[in-house]
Amino acid sequence: MKKEIILIESRDAAFRDLILKTPVGEKLSTCMQCGICAGSCPVSHEMDYNPRQLVRMVQLGLKKEVLNSNTIWICTTCFSCSVRCPRGIRPTELMETLKPIAIAEGIKNKNERFDGVFSDVVRKNGRASEFLLISKYSLKEPEMIKQAPFGLSLYSKGKLPLAIDKMENTRELDTIFKLSEKAEKKESKETGMKIEKEEPETDK
Ligand code: SF4
Ligand code: SF4
Repeated sequence: MKKEIILIESRDAAFRDLILKTPVGEKLSTCMQCGICAGSCPVSHEMDYNPRQLVRMVQLGLKKEVLNSNTIWICTTCFSCSVRCPRGIRPTELMETLKPIAIAEGIKNKNERFDGVFSDVVRKNGRASEFLLISKYSLKEPEMIKQAPFGLSLYSKGKLPLAIDKMENTRELDTIFKLSEKAEKKESKETGMKIEKEEPETDK
């Protein structure tokens, strides 16, 4: 977790207001910083800022720090925080609201790259395949080579099957992805945000 002094001058009221106007922003100002979300989060130790801190930072309009943090990409959308928040705030949805804004701002994050690979694999196969995920992500993230011994050890213990479990019919899934892309484009037109994404691969 980051320990740093954030200057008050870095507040961006327009960013805060933009988030407060989204569906998840409705209850955001009621956060009492109880920390139940952070205590429930299984991956907060990997985050620059835990969910409690992120909520507070959004309240303060700390746009640069929020959008550049790895928190929004590390979140596994497990919903523990949203289910447990006594104020009905939904940090999970807050993360999902912040992602397209970070992309629209051109902020690069290697965790975002992983999200892209994950979506691509699920879209084509209907299921996540560890083998496909690791191999495709390794092509985009050269540092993954350091994980090769770990991958081999998993494979030798039968924990990394090479067989790809594919859904029989991925047409409906593809329709869901297309509808979501359409909704994203509509939203980006309405909010004036330009969302750039890598095109999914076409080796179907
Ligand atoms: S659980 Fe809810 S009220 Fe408590 S810190 Fe997290 S967001 Fe705020
Ligand atoms: S949804 Fe994300 S932020 Fe919330 S507890 Fe799960 S991993 Fe943590």
